[in-house]
Amino acid sequence: MLAIPACPLCGGRSVGRVGVAQYYCWDCFVEFDSQNRVYEVSEDGSLIAYKG
Ligand SMILES: [Zn+2]
Repeated sequence: MLAIPACPLCGGRSVGRVGVAQYYCWDCFVEFDSQNRVYEVSEDGSLIAYKG
């Protein structure tokens, strides 16, 4: 079983898996992948690169 990584933004563990290598932080409301690339989720559900 693969461990779910901590959020790269807040370091928190309120993270759920949403895809094969994609995760969602319930604290930051962002998605991130196994490369720690972070995405914001727009209102229509598409992903936008997070600009910090
Ligand atoms: Zn977070």
